[in-house]
Amino acid sequence: MELKLEGIQKSYGSVKVLDSISYTFTAGVYGLLGANGSGKTTLFRIICGLMKPDYGRVSYNGKEIVNQAEAYRTILGFLPQEFAYYPDFTAKKFLLYIAALKGLSSSLANQRCQELLQLVGLENIGNKKIKKFSGGMKQRLGIAQALINDPQILILDEPTVGLDPKERVKFRKLLSSISKDKIVILSTHIVSDVEALADDILILKEGCIQNSGSSQELLLEINHQVWECRVTESQAKQLEINYVVSNRRHENGQEILRIVSLVKPIRDAEEVAPNLEDLYLYYFREE
Ligand code: ADP
Repeated sequence: MELKLEGIQKSYGSVKVLDSISYTFTAGVYGLLGANGSGKTTLFRIICGLMKPDYGRVSYNGKEIVNQAEAYRTILGFLPQEFAYYPDFTAKKFLLYIAALKGLSSSLANQRCQELLQLVGLENIGNKKIKKFSGGMKQRLGIAQALINDPQILILDEPTVGLDPKERVKFRKLLSSISKDKIVILSTHIVSDVEALADDILILKEGCIQNSGSSQELLLEINHQVWECRVTESQAKQLEINYVVSNRRHENGQEILRIVSLVKPIRDAEEVAPNLEDLYLYYFREE
């Protein structure tokens, strides 16, 4: 399976949001990392065929998606940032409704509905109205609806927003159980999520994919550029003005700053191994 983006461009009025995006996805979990407003949702809408790019094309297994609209929809699952549901529907009724929209037969719809409620841990509250669900429960239902047609491509737009730490862990487990033999692309601006979930990370900035690869590969970019500095409060203030500080903590009367910089920021600075938080700041510091 191969999902290919070629030269995707998209502007809203005179503002160019995506500027020549090219990338080929094969089976695996991809994390699209970008600041708010960097165009993640726009790119997803284009990948899902809900929006046309100004230029460029999206193809799946060699065929442009615009030429296979119906067939493409049957292999696609999408969890938008805020998925629309009817609050008075029960979880079960909602899933059956989505299954009908996707054209599943009623026996298959019933079977998938049972399986998915179980998979996302909602089997005991399938008959409860969605309006009574917590944020995490709604989000798991959102994932279930995206999976109803057992999609080959699963697009999840900011799936962990609003989840508490326990729900996050559940979501990570759920995703690893469903992602086999699929192309899963999720967007986030939460670095720890992308680190835990994605095999490959794509960094979207200024309308382009600035870098991509495993977190190990991406971290090479800032190798020998992360420093830990133990300083006084007033030195810390000065360093924060002059450098990209990815962390600051207080220990035994000293300020400990983590700094991303090509040059050693102070004489006593100690070089430390980079992490994804550092990398995020390296790319998105002004935003
Ligand atoms: P992200 O998902 O990364 O936050 P979006 O794709 O939602 O980014 O938005 C990218 C930029 O495009 C933002 O500046 C946003 O305000 C703008 N934008 C998004 N949708 C529209 C629209 N329908 N009309 C005009 N501008 C839009």
